[in-house]
Amino acid sequence: MLRVELGRSKSTSDLYRAKEWSPIWIHEKIRFDYKAFCTMCLMLEIIDHMSTDDDLHDDLTSSEDSMIGLFRVLSNGLVHLEARVSAKSFDRYSELIIYLGKLLIEQGVFPERSTCVFCDQELKNASLIYLVTDHGGFGCSECVGHLEDALLSSAQEGRELWEILGVVANEKYQNLVELKLEHTEITKTLLSYFFYQFHMEPKQLKGLSSVI
Ligand SMILES: [Zn+2]
Repeated sequence: MLRVELGRSKSTSDLYRAKEWSPIWIHEKIRFDYKAFCTMCLMLEIIDHMSTDDDLHDDLTSSEDSMIGLFRVLSNGLVHLEARVSAKSFDRYSELIIYLGKLLIEQGVFPERSTCVFCDQELKNASLIYLVTDHGGFGCSECVGHLEDALLSSAQEGRELWEILGVVANEKYQNLVELKLEHTEITKTLLSYFFYQFHMEPKQLKGLSSVI
């Protein structure tokens, strides 16, 4: 990450040039770990797909507000990734789940966890729960059992993902260490949810296959 001072040769010119720049943060360890490097590239690629083109001439707009939020998550994500590699406890599934979870919170489309998206029953004590991608949250087994065509997680994954997302939502990024996953498939389940929310497709992300 760089601090850049911009200058224009003429006040009417649309062309900006970097007068001065200085690094404010550099990753030291990620580049020596191939999987961590691929994870970083994927994180950047995801943000690239979610960002709008910025215009330096515009005043602060709502889209810029949203960009600041995305930048904050990306910045936290890169610092977190570097810290996990430094601590020799980097796990690519864990990094991706935390990153996707924080982006979903930032964009206001985090999966509904407290009650079933169909019947409002509390999910904390429900025996079987599923993430129902096209309904924006989790559902109980009574409601979900008959849904054959819905985009669903399996029940085992559903419970684990529900627990893990609770941790991601309730802890600050920098306080999270690596998540211990029993089923790494929940990463793909969360990705499907993420793609659905942002109208993206796996094939749009070139770096995806090198991470999961
Ligand atoms: Zn229900």
